[in-house]
Amino acid sequence: MWRIRSSIRRLPRAEAPPEVSARICLDKNESPFDLPHGLKKELFEKLSKIPLNRYPPGYPTELEGKIAGYLNLSPENVIVANGSDELIGLILKVFEGDHIVISSPTFGMYDFFAALEGIKVIDVPLGEGFELGDVERFADGARAIFICSPNNPTGNTHPKKRIIEVLETGAPVILDEAYAEFAKESNIDLVKDYDNLIILRTFSKAFGLAGARLGYAVASEETMDYLRRVLPPFSVNSLSLKAGEFMFEHLDYVGHVIRYIIEERERLYREFKDYTYPSEANFLLMKLDAHDFLLKRGIVVKKLGGRLKGHIRVTVGRKEENDELISALREFINLTAG
Ligand code: PMP
Repeated sequence: MWRIRSSIRRLPRAEAPPEVSARICLDKNESPFDLPHGLKKELFEKLSKIPLNRYPPGYPTELEGKIAGYLNLSPENVIVANGSDELIGLILKVFEGDHIVISSPTFGMYDFFAALEGIKVIDVPLGEGFELGDVERFADGARAIFICSPNNPTGNTHPKKRIIEVLETGAPVILDEAYAEFAKESNIDLVKDYDNLIILRTFSKAFGLAGARLGYAVASEETMDYLRRVLPPFSVNSLSLKAGEFMFEHLDYVGHVIRYIIEERERLYREFKDYTYPSEANFLLMKLDAHDFLLKRGIVVKKLGGRLKGHIRVTVGRKEENDELISALREFINLTAG
């Protein structure tokens, strides 16, 4: 007689978000730029030489080496996986502890993977200005304390000083830096001082490879030694690995896209200052209940709920997309104001 594990039985059925077809997609914090034609052709020529009958390398040491070079660390400090999402699940398998600590409103996948492991989620909500609360109170027995900086969906970062205070508890801290390339400061340097720190990064945002599903974790060599024990071999496919490696030959292009997005983010922020929170990511949180209005005009943004009911999260798009967003939102504000 087969029995379903109770932690799985309790899970809600994972529903794929409804596919919304819109002209302008500003709902998933993707890069608005696919690779330019010339670069894409160059990459596809490289891909065409990959033997698809062969497995990828057991572990993606070449890409890990390139990431390590980019971050000024050793390859021993880096692990690549199928998106940083996958790494959240793997990391939770390594540590002991009966709960995780999150700070809502934040990224939803921490809850998802905690539920898979059948462990409790303790929420210490962010404060009025979206600052971290007293997460240290629940450090004892925590399998991980999640800190998302810049935080999705609020866009703010948490000061290094505050992150260090949490690290000082000795509990495993998973610092999600998916949007770090758009921020003023990163915390990669802390990996050298804190064995209990694991930083998550991704190729899905600044590097524009959301479709390739590539993410990585950065931690001390000792912590990585344990993480490597739960990492299945041959897990990342050869095509995605090559795409990731290729981006490191074109960091000037990546840098250009990052500067463009930051400039456009600041333009949108200035335009709607009264309704928008400052952001260090590639999206903005706006206090405008404009999701349905925008959708009718072919623009899809993320509608938020709970404490952020009446807010939207808007991914920064290309100039012409942002121009359309600006005029639609101006219209919305004119209609709803008074
Ligand atoms: N962390 C955060 C905070 C995110 O917003 C996202 C993507 N929405 C991810 C991780 C997932 O990244 P990946 O595509 O590498 O799984």
